[in-house]
Amino acid sequence: MHKKLFIPGPVEIHPDILAAMATPMIGHRMKEYAELHGRVTAGLKKVLFTEGPVFLATSSAFGVMEGAIRNLVGARCANFCNGAFSDKWHDVTLRCGKQADAIRFDWGKPVTPETVELTLSTGKYDSMTMIHNETSTGVMSPLPEIASVMRKFPEVMFIVDTVSSMSALKVPVDELGIDSCIFGVQKAFALPPGLAVFTASEKALQRAAGMEGRGYYYDYMEFAANDAKDNTPSTPCISLIYAMDKQLERIFAEGLEARWARHAALADYVRGWVASRGFELFPEARYCSQTLTCSRNNRGIDLAVLKKKLGEAGFAFDDGYGKIKGETFRIAHMGDMTRADIDGLLTAIVTIIPELA
Ligand SMILES: *Cc1c(COP(=O)(O)O)cnc(C)c1O
Repeated sequence: MHKKLFIPGPVEIHPDILAAMATPMIGHRMKEYAELHGRVTAGLKKVLFTEGPVFLATSSAFGVMEGAIRNLVGARCANFCNGAFSDKWHDVTLRCGKQADAIRFDWGKPVTPETVELTLSTGKYDSMTMIHNETSTGVMSPLPEIASVMRKFPEVMFIVDTVSSMSALKVPVDELGIDSCIFGVQKAFALPPGLAVFTASEKALQRAAGMEGRGYYYDYMEFAANDAKDNTPSTPCISLIYAMDKQLERIFAEGLEARWARHAALADYVRGWVASRGFELFPEARYCSQTLTCSRNNRGIDLAVLKKKLGEAGFAFDDGYGKIKGETFRIAHMGDMTRADIDGLLTAIVTIIPELA
């Protein structure tokens, strides 16, 4: 039996997307591919609000997260860390042989504009990384406020992971001054895993051009040269690009504003449900994610048992990530999720634990 995915990635895939993936194969040096590539990157530019190039990489998000480090970190990188994925990005930065510092916040807290300003004011850094929506803790950091601070540091590359937020709310890449915005498609975009998307500002391309050790697979220069011909450096995951083509069609049919509103309403609804059952949200209310709700298990529910029983009832449920596994649970409401889907899960939870009715 298929367990319907309520975990924060990968997420449930719409049948139309799965059908699009069964499109017969084409060669990536054929004109049919260039047409597909051109259409998909044009659609992504509208969702990301960027006039700059949008590159398609065949990998999970961490491939491109590593690529951004290799291409854009020169002297030293400030890795802002407030959860498992941002912690790992710091580790990746060091493993690429770069000088870097982790600027840590307690799990459950956002990256703050004040700390970003203090850190970059030292003049030690020519690049910074942060995660917009820390999926491990359900925290969404105040990106517009951080972007305002970043304007004071034009020499610092502003590298942002939007894996679990892009398309669920407005993240206008150019207006925010993001130099490289990165995401994998298996979370907020609700596609199967294996495709990652990234942008590069003019400044990012200039920085990359002079960078040693860019490697090949994630070389921004290779991507730029190939994208100019609506192509990729090496063979792309064409089936997933067909899936993205279909998903963009679906996103524009729903309407961007309507998509953002659906996610805002779902987030409110799930937070309300959790709070009314006496659970405490893990993040502070104003930093709660728009795409997943992370709750403390302050009622002492046996989450392992709940997860098992939900699994038997056809629902994949998440009982926390990393060091807060068992102490928290997360309910994803990203991608194509609807109120009816969420109600299905909540009803199943109440059936298993009647005192939560
Ligand atoms: C899931 C996730 C990642 C890791 O993505 P992979 O595709 O597994 O490499 C990175 N950042 C965030 C915010 C995530 O949620």
